[in-house]
Amino acid sequence: MFCHQCQETMRNSGCNAARGVCGKTSETADLQDLVLHACKGIGFWGTKALEKGVWREDAAMFVDRMLFATITNANFAAAKFELWALEALQVRDRLKADYFGAGGTSPATLPDAASWEAKDAGEIRAAAATGKGGWTQVADLDIRALRSLVLYGLKGIAAYAEHAYNLGKSSKELFAFMFRALSALTDDAMSAEALTALVLETGKFGVDAMALLDSANTGAYGSPRVTTVKTGVRDKPGILISGHDLRDLHDLLEQTKGSGVDVYTHGEMLPAHYYPFFEKYDNLYANYGGAWWNQGTEIEKFNGPVLFTSNCLVPPREGYKSRVFTTNVVGFEGCVHVADREPGKMKDFSAIVALAKTCPPPQKLDEPGLSTEIVGGFGHDQVFALADKVVAAVKSGAIKRFVVMAGCDGRQPGRSYYTDVAEKLPKDAVILTAGCAKYRYNRLGLGDIDLSGRNREEAIIEPAIAGGDIDGIPRVLDAGQCNDSYSLALIALKLKEAFGLDDVNKLPLSFDIAWYEQKAVLVLLALLFLGFKDIRLGPTLPGFLSPAVATVLVEKFGIRGIGTAEADVAAIMAGA
Ligand code: SF4
Repeated sequence: MFCHQCQETMRNSGCNAARGVCGKTSETADLQDLVLHACKGIGFWGTKALEKGVWREDAAMFVDRMLFATITNANFAAAKFELWALEALQVRDRLKADYFGAGGTSPATLPDAASWEAKDAGEIRAAAATGKGGWTQVADLDIRALRSLVLYGLKGIAAYAEHAYNLGKSSKELFAFMFRALSALTDDAMSAEALTALVLETGKFGVDAMALLDSANTGAYGSPRVTTVKTGVRDKPGILISGHDLRDLHDLLEQTKGSGVDVYTHGEMLPAHYYPFFEKYDNLYANYGGAWWNQGTEIEKFNGPVLFTSNCLVPPREGYKSRVFTTNVVGFEGCVHVADREPGKMKDFSAIVALAKTCPPPQKLDEPGLSTEIVGGFGHDQVFALADKVVAAVKSGAIKRFVVMAGCDGRQPGRSYYTDVAEKLPKDAVILTAGCAKYRYNRLGLGDIDLSGRNREEAIIEPAIAGGDIDGIPRVLDAGQCNDSYSLALIALKLKEAFGLDDVNKLPLSFDIAWYEQKAVLVLLALLFLGFKDIRLGPTLPGFLSPAVATVLVEKFGIRGIGTAEADVAAIMAGA
């Protein structure tokens, strides 16, 4: 086992023990590498088949799901990856047959990913045990780092594309890039320069993937608007839903309405409350708890069943494991998995609802010092509607700086840096956030921008979107989930236009981003593609970067690590 894909990797170098920091076993890690190796073979033959005019969306969706399933904290079940490895070889060989069937000729060179064979589970296990497809087989550390950036960016694209697909939106162009990029990862003749270009192209398709999901979510559920979300509990049994998939939430709300069972959001599902469509469900009661890594204690106190719709599953404790349900690509041995929905139907969550009815109501969490409500919903449409007011506040000096603090939260104690930064930023700084990084500061009661003593017109913020309600400009503007970092980029580009600037980096805007898993890698690549520079990235720079590749990111894009909260706040407010 050698896995270095997340921020918590051992020694910021790579997990290479019997179990990774996340709890993934070496057996699962090796099988994941093997599945992805087979997917590179699918990319190879899929690209060639497409050149011959043959396209299989089912193969693309299979690859998409495999990339997503191997994201940190998504699926821990070795047996599942064993089956998927065999299926991947079948998918690959169908595309190979398509290519030759369409008149393709034998390629001059055939990478191992395109040609290796395994007949059964025993051979899959044997191949995985050799480390086939793993990073240790790429000796050049710079090539390994560049390929890592591409592969982890693809995992982010895959995650967003899957949620969009579940809402009926897909993009052949996006999937074709996925195939081409996976195929490129098998090309040992590809130079570092060509791989660097592919890294940036991954960022371009990352923007496309986030735009696709944005249109899927807003098309189905409306544009997020300012919303106040409760955090308490009431005296009814509940179901906790975590992850990012809004379609699953929709199905669950339909199946619980009128049942006497409440639905609570957890972690990255919090922003679902911001979508107007879900307002009609009075059984969508509140958000419960904080970021993903707190789930052990919080699920114990929740008392009812928990549904994980995407990554951010921590290996469940025995005390509540029987209440944990997974769906989509999520999996854990011993937890009940809810099957995919059949075409035109809802997913069947009846087993979860039945279990909930036998459980006591959730226990109120002891959260001293935290606000009892969360205000969010500052997606692009909502902020665009407020643009004149925001611009006026900047021109009058009421807002001195915007600080994008999007990204992930995690367990490392050093992440208290982000709470410290939020608390130390002066009151004329606005934090733009998305992703679960927000839980480090979204309930601190940081208040609103002080508009007193200014024009009345400037001080009154009308409800910008039907249902939205706002009296001032909060100092924490939450756009939503990690994929809603797209909203933050659009907002920055809108501000650039409003101020008549020729370069987005001239805005009074700084980035202080927290990363943990691979979707954050994609968000970073997307920001670089859009031209944003001088991004602070923490709590550590990715361990998968070689010194030379890290230097390129620093010199070309101004990527930098974090320092102390005091020093960074001073530098941010000085525009550095
Ligand atoms: Fe280690 Fe992160 Fe990989 Fe888990 S996902 S094995 S913590 S690097």
